Amino acid sequence: MAEVDAAGEDAVDRTGAQRYAAEWARAVRRLGFVPLSAAETERLLLAYTLRLADALRTDESVASVAEEIGRAMVETNLTEPGMIEWSVRALADRLPARVLCGRGGSGAAAGLAGRIAAAQGGLAAGFARALRDRTFVHQERIARSAWQARDAVEQALRDSEARFRAVFSGAAIGIGIADVDGRIIDVNQAFADMLGYPVEELRRLDVASLFHPDDVAGMSELYRELVEGKRESVRAEQRYHRKDGTCVWADLAVSLIRHDDGRPRFTVAVAEDITGRYELQRRLRFQALHDPLTELPNRTLFFETLGRLLGQAGPVGLCFLDLDGFKAINDSLGHDLGDRLLVTIARRLAGCVAERGYLVARMGGDEFAILVDGDAGIDGVIAVAEAVLAAVSAPVFVDDQQLMVSASIGIVDSEHVGASVAELMKAAHTTLYWAKAQGRGRWAVYDPERSARDIARSGRLAGLPLALDRGEFVLHYQPIVSLLDGRMLAVEALVRWQHPQLGLIGPDRFIGLAEETGLIVRLGEWVLRQACRDARGWHTEFPDARLVVSVNLAARQADAPAIVDTVADTLASSGLPAELLQLELTESAVMGSAEEPLRTLHRLAGLGVRLAIDDFGTGYSNLAYLRRLPITCLKLAAPFVEGIRGDEPDAADHRDERIVDALVRLAHALELWVTAEGVETEAQAERLRALRCDTAQGRLFGPPEPADAIRTRLAGG
Ligand code: C2E
Ligand code: MG
Ligand code: MG
Repeated sequence: MAEVDAAGEDAVDRTGAQRYAAEWARAVRRLGFVPLSAAETERLLLAYTLRLADALRTDESVASVAEEIGRAMVETNLTEPGMIEWSVRALADRLPARVLCGRGGSGAAAGLAGRIAAAQGGLAAGFARALRDRTFVHQERIARSAWQARDAVEQALRDSEARFRAVFSGAAIGIGIADVDGRIIDVNQAFADMLGYPVEELRRLDVASLFHPDDVAGMSELYRELVEGKRESVRAEQRYHRKDGTCVWADLAVSLIRHDDGRPRFTVAVAEDITGRYELQRRLRFQALHDPLTELPNRTLFFETLGRLLGQAGPVGLCFLDLDGFKAINDSLGHDLGDRLLVTIARRLAGCVAERGYLVARMGGDEFAILVDGDAGIDGVIAVAEAVLAAVSAPVFVDDQQLMVSASIGIVDSEHVGASVAELMKAAHTTLYWAKAQGRGRWAVYDPERSARDIARSGRLAGLPLALDRGEFVLHYQPIVSLLDGRMLAVEALVRWQHPQLGLIGPDRFIGLAEETGLIVRLGEWVLRQACRDARGWHTEFPDARLVVSVNLAARQADAPAIVDTVADTLASSGLPAELLQLELTESAVMGSAEEPLRTLHRLAGLGVRLAIDDFGTGYSNLAYLRRLPITCLKLAAPFVEGIRGDEPDAADHRDERIVDALVRLAHALELWVTAEGVETEAQAERLRALRCDTAQGRLFGPPEPADAIRTRLAGG
């Protein structure tokens, strides 16, 4: 399968094709007599290889191209069974890797696997049919002429009867003669052997009694048309009952023999046992459409069936399942045990839905899919998913090990997703991912709105690094003012994304993503350097203002070992005095128990920069720990300030006010400054002033604005 995956849609590798054809030629010459020279054989097979490869790359009708080639092999006398077996197998095992080059996506590879299966079937079928046709032409000619000879003999020459007998009984192919009422008159030994009866017994039977029950109706009809003289011959592949109850597949040709005056007289049947060939074809088809490990239908059969069901009217439900932590089991206990676990799970899944006849497929690895009749609605599909989860979670015993496994299931149905295979599968993958994210042993149902949000989010996620490289981020600054005299003492740097299509995007929509991916370290460094450059500019122009710039540090940034060096380097290169830089950290970033963050904070404080705790009161506050931190300022989270309205205080107002009061006292006891965030009204400012809060920030004192606006403010005094 790895070879198939690597193949693609792009081109045929001619050198590869030559090598493949040479290998093919060597194989057929080894496997039997070839009436061509080595070079001629190779040339011929190269032509076949190129046609096959070309059809495999593009052609929908790959089966018929392969069938033609199968036929052509017989016509050039490459008729040994070993040759076709080798050729069919090599189509999957060697051809893709050698001859099809370039890169395709996994979708292309899945399509290719299906086309290869079609080519294998076509090649085998073409070969078989051509071989059969050839035998038939010979045998039928013999039988007919034998009969004509016999007719003539009956009337004239007795000794010709002996000649007919010799042909009839010596033929390797079964020949039987019946009258127009279907009574068997004579059969040869080959015919009797094929059906497992003694010749004598067959001579007492009726043609119809040998038909397989499933074929009775069709065959009786054909026979009637024949004996009524409406047809001259009948050709069919059909099953016969052998005497021992087993069934034999026969390729059958029945011809009508008429009296001199044209009235139907006898039927002569020529039958060849094709059970072996039929079984080979059946096995090939089974192999192409089933997973060898679990024997469940494979992806190809699953997609074929899904496509067909979606083409019909009714809704289709799908449970897309993946075992939880299978990789760990495989890695720790070995692949052999992993394989046996998969077989057990496969049997359980099949058992769960066997009664209802739903298709269970192994999609690869530890992924399985179940196609559910959607008529029962989404609840019906959920019921199947729950039954499946229960079945999977029963303990599994392999050797003397007891394993506990669980699975996650994504549930989708065609009514809510759309009717294409691709849409359904994409939704199934997404939903499975949601189920996994909830923890082990869960199912989730597809939700189009959530999916749209996910897509927007991952679009932003993918765009972030490029946006940083393209310089699409900008800084806005929000004043932090003294509550005593209204003077602007500091500004907080707040990053925005100037998106070329979506406009200005706020940090709440990308900082979290940047933290998840680690991009925050690079982004944060850019913010730090830009903020220090701007602050240095203001300081040069307005040295008396002693304006502090306050920069947010994400937890991941504060954890990065290089942060102290980065800050020191930024101060040095910008020329900003260290005491004009404040770093804001969240409680969770500094309150950890580890010693490392504490050391980092001390080293940062050692550089002379100020440290503030951002959004104080919303996180995990360990007041005792606070004492050990080299911080200078607490920023009270906006929700507390929001609770203070100043006018007509009710009980809730009082509670928030009492909290702020306590926090301010605490901060002052620790000799810390307090900044209130999110101050929007004069009344709030008034109350905060009364509570002795030192500084404040919020729309009342100015929204976040570009650097120029700060400069204008400084110039205004
Ligand atoms: P924060 O550090 O607590 O920043 C204060 C937020 O309050 C800012 O939101 C600001 O625009 C907003 N705000 C300003 N005035 C008012 C007001 O009157 N009422 C209320 N309710 N809110 C007000 P913004 O700019 O959307 O930033 C949101 C958060 O994003 C920041 O919260 C900070 O945690 C984060 N952030 C922003 N820039 C950076 C950055 O450069 N690095 C890192 N790590 N985080 C950043
Ligand atoms: Mg902040
Ligand atoms: Mg804040």
